[in-house]
Amino acid sequence: MRAIVHLDLDAFFAAVEQLDDPGLRGRPVIVGGTSGRGVVCAASYEARRYGVRSAMPTAEARRRCPDGVFLPPRFPRYSELSRAVFAVYRRYTPLVEPLSLDEAFLDVTRSRALHGDPESIARKVKSEVREGTGLTVSAGVADCKMAAKIASDLGKPDGLVAVPPGTTAAFLAPLPVSRLWGVGRVTEQALRVLGVTTIGELARFPEQVLVERFGSQGAHMRALAAGDDPRPVVPDEEAHSIGAEDTFERDLSGEEALLPTLLDQSVRVARRLREAGLRGRVVTLKVKYGDFTMVTRRTTLPRATDDAGEIYRSIRADLARASPERAVRLTGVTVSGFSAEEEPPAQLDLLGTPGASPPGRVGANAKRDALNAALDALADRYGEASVRPATLVERAPETLRPAIQWPKRGGKG
Ligand SMILES: [Mg+2]
Repeated sequence: MRAIVHLDLDAFFAAVEQLDDPGLRGRPVIVGGTSGRGVVCAASYEARRYGVRSAMPTAEARRRCPDGVFLPPRFPRYSELSRAVFAVYRRYTPLVEPLSLDEAFLDVTRSRALHGDPESIARKVKSEVREGTGLTVSAGVADCKMAAKIASDLGKPDGLVAVPPGTTAAFLAPLPVSRLWGVGRVTEQALRVLGVTTIGELARFPEQVLVERFGSQGAHMRALAAGDDPRPVVPDEEAHSIGAEDTFERDLSGEEALLPTLLDQSVRVARRLREAGLRGRVVTLKVKYGDFTMVTRRTTLPRATDDAGEIYRSIRADLARASPERAVRLTGVTVSGFSAEEEPPAQLDLLGTPGASPPGRVGANAKRDALNAALDALADRYGEASVRPATLVERAPETLRPAIQWPKRGGKG
């Protein structure tokens, strides 16, 4: 039986501000872009009581919480503390998979002999993080990644929720299906039509009906609902990347057929980069063919990016070098080579902070960043499939539309 711990720092950026300035403790602190077009990237729990959430436009946050303390982000400081926190994690296992600056999975299956049962490990990690940095981290313990992540979320803030081995399905059963990875608003609604609102109902639902309605995703969802999530914790280099990949229902071939999906994947990766406050220079295309052989094509950009258009242009060039005429079973887009620490001015500008833009990051870049922020806000409210930057659509819209329907979310969601 595996033992997975999910760790998630509580309101991380806002907590750092309250840590460094004791005068801010107990007050609603909102970190994000402070100009008109900025978005919130973190809100303290005091601010959340006013309905302030991350990815909300700062202007709306100001309306909801006029007495809030609005601060621009300080990424170098967040990175410094993140490194200190991850150093604590690595004392308990080499199998640490970072998801962002403030979130990670630990596989502690083989740490038990040395450090005790998984719940004790989580408790020790929490107290070491608090003693070492002054920050609180919520922990979830389970036998798979998905349940561990849900558990840490349920205990927030400063929580520790452990799902005893063998009880994962029972733990998940009463929760709404929207808690499952890969179940967005559209799928949730479609499940409700079938009379399925809880994870337990989904786990008991006839698989054949789900497959008829949702394709292979239906079987995948049902397996997750039953607590069957074999995805491993992937440490180190591979995890220092953000990616999206999809397996097609039937093999596709030719650039014409593949590009819409690659655009969709570029948009998803760019959005996750911006959520994590990261930009990367290395863009990697992965192509798996019908015979299960695989190639990757890697490009290093002149500067780090979190923009779907830049990622897509690089991927499109890579595709020409990846035999797109063959039968293709899966494509994936990954960005790595992050530089959050090295480029704080660009990060600040991303959030629309006035005066933070160095020369050259005004005009087109500022407009693009504002567009991205607006798209993120829309996607947050209506689901990712609802927004596509029109400027990226270089082909007829009808060739784009199937990209949203064909792919079945792979394991990396
Ligand atoms: Mg967090």
